[in-house]
Amino acid sequence: MKKRILSILLATLTLLTWLPFQKPADAASLRCMLRGDADGDGEITATDARLILRCSVGLESPGPKQRPFFTYENIDRVTAMDARYVLRLSVGLEDRPLHYPGNGRSVSAATCTEPEQIETTCRCCGAVYLTEGEAAKGHTPGNWEITEKATCIEEGRRERRCTVCEEVLAAEALPLTDHVYGDMQCDQGLNCEKAQNVYYICKVCGARKNEVKYASSHNFKWVTTIAPTCTTSGLREEICTVCGYKTGEAQSLPGGNGHILSAWEIVIAPTATNDGKRVRRCLRCEQIIEEEILPKLG
Ligand SMILES: [Zn+2]
Ligand SMILES: [Zn+2]
Ligand SMILES: [Zn+2]
Ligand SMILES: [Zn+2]
Ligand SMILES: [Zn+2]
Repeated sequence: MKKRILSILLATLTLLTWLPFQKPADAASLRCMLRGDADGDGEITATDARLILRCSVGLESPGPKQRPFFTYENIDRVTAMDARYVLRLSVGLEDRPLHYPGNGRSVSAATCTEPEQIETTCRCCGAVYLTEGEAAKGHTPGNWEITEKATCIEEGRRERRCTVCEEVLAAEALPLTDHVYGDMQCDQGLNCEKAQNVYYICKVCGARKNEVKYASSHNFKWVTTIAPTCTTSGLREEICTVCGYKTGEAQSLPGGNGHILSAWEIVIAPTATNDGKRVRRCLRCEQIIEEEILPKLG
């Protein structure tokens, strides 16, 4: 009686076999050649489907070692759907099922661009295969950084790198800068009171910019022309900062107060064979004021 029911079930399954069935889709290396081989003879046939069907109705029970061979989805519950799947597999209507994964082992962590790689051993066929774990994390863009400064003759460059892997994510040219002109010059000598053809020279590239300078008043400033020292006084004069014209106004800057002597300082220590030297400097101007030979020792 049970045998008849089973035959009817198997016949029904055979019919159902030809209806569409959702296929597991994955790379060839992830497919297991042994899952579904319930009787362990190395081939997937209707006999395997029948055995699985008997197990699904409790006529037989697979041992724990056999169980990975039985199911294609849920190892803990063998159903008539498993039997149907294996039957379709036996006639080539199904792709081989995926491996039955054992414990995975992370072999490389997820990076910005690559997912985590997990090495797994199939509990059914023992194949070792790689699958993806944690997804690639994506880059973490840092701030824009100038890698080459732009000048008046060369474009610069700025880059944006990933703060994790340093990969350059974006790069941009920086536009040419303005010229860096030096002081106003005139071949005849600058004179504020006259209109003149003047020019400026770029300190970077030497480019010349011509200009007409109109007559104007001077731009006077007090400029120290002679710095005071310990022995002499200095001088400051009223000078035009543009053309250098001097008004003749001048002021003496206090100086000549004399040096301030430091203590003796040995600069060359005497040895058994050579003389040494000691000096006294001025604390203000650091000039050496006095020096003495230190006779050799012995
Ligand atoms: Zn396998
Ligand atoms: Zn990155
Ligand atoms: Zn320039
Ligand atoms: Zn002037
Ligand atoms: Zn001095």
